[in-house]
Amino acid sequence: MPTPPLLTPLVARLPATVPFVGPEAQERAAGRAFRARIGANESVFGPSPAAVAAMQAAAAGVWMYGDPENHDLRHALAARHGCRPDNIVVGEGIDGLLGLLVRMTVAEGSNVVTSDGAYPTFNFHVAGFGGLLHKVPYRGDHEDPNALLARAHEVGARLVYIANPDNPMGSHHPGAMIAAMLDGLPPDCLLVIDEAYVELAPEGTAAPVDPDDPRAIRMRTFSKAHGMAGARVGFAVGAPALIAAFDRVRNHFGMGRISQAGALAALADTDWLAHVRAEVAAARDRIAAIARASGLTPLPSATNFVAVDCGRDGALARAVLAGLTARGIFARMPGVAPLDRCIRVSCGTGADLDLLAAALPEALAEARKAAAAPA
Ligand SMILES: *Cc1c(COP(=O)(O)O)cnc(C)c1O
Repeated sequence: MPTPPLLTPLVARLPATVPFVGPEAQERAAGRAFRARIGANESVFGPSPAAVAAMQAAAAGVWMYGDPENHDLRHALAARHGCRPDNIVVGEGIDGLLGLLVRMTVAEGSNVVTSDGAYPTFNFHVAGFGGLLHKVPYRGDHEDPNALLARAHEVGARLVYIANPDNPMGSHHPGAMIAAMLDGLPPDCLLVIDEAYVELAPEGTAAPVDPDDPRAIRMRTFSKAHGMAGARVGFAVGAPALIAAFDRVRNHFGMGRISQAGALAALADTDWLAHVRAEVAAARDRIAAIARASGLTPLPSATNFVAVDCGRDGALARAVLAGLTARGIFARMPGVAPLDRCIRVSCGTGADLDLLAAALPEALAEARKAAAAPA
């Protein structure tokens, strides 16, 4: 397609790619629906029934804009996290907040550091604002704090991104190790701590960072453990000056009333969160058992998904994934070597995982046969 006129030089230079192909696009292309949707780390266990009720109750009032200050939700979040409301900005998921943060801090040519194979939406935003991405390798399927800091010094980074727990490998570091990174940052560099899965991780995984510390911003979401990915609610915790700066660029009416009401109710329902944690733990164990039954190696997970090492390389894992897709199972896999020897399976219902148990041995046998055949 020709580049349309009127784009800024920066946008005209950007690749015309979509960072994620959604399962809906795959379903349209295949002409049929997936039988198991266990690829996007959504929570099949759903939102809290109290959140559903609150969203239903809010629906008739949807003719009203939401509160542009997200007052009630910010106050409830502050109470929960032991900070002040001026430490918290609410936005359209972590994805939306990452875009705003990059816009606020990354000029054309600014240097940014992340891990090779880590969460791609962050990279998408950095590219979108003309930043230069520097990537360090994973170490033992973990993001590598020391390598991230070393590269940040080398390039004079504005931002260093780390997800803890990590997506796509499901690994995690103790929160104290993440907090210790602050003392190793170069000057004028912000540590972006993505804690999308932290509610599902072992105790002690959340980074013990002072909310007023200007060297870090922590991001959380209602999309994963709270089961509200379609509502688009995330928040960031940071020093008031940085948090207030979001007001200069954010979409003030970006949060809908239904989402605000749902998130508020979900936050209060700690029993539901405990229920989801138990469901997730059981599903992780089941995915691991299904993988082992096929002779594959499940990686330890602190999230609602399991990376399954298919034992060879990206080509084999891609073939296994294609076999699952052909059998109506939506899963995904890491994008770069050596992580791409794995497929990534999100926690599913019992029925979802029954389908996986039936499909995986077939997909694997097919993939191995194709890999052994002469090209
Ligand atoms: C799923 C995910 C997100 C996206 O969160 P939203 O709040 O839905 O935008 C962010 N970071 C990581 C690491 C994720 O896996």
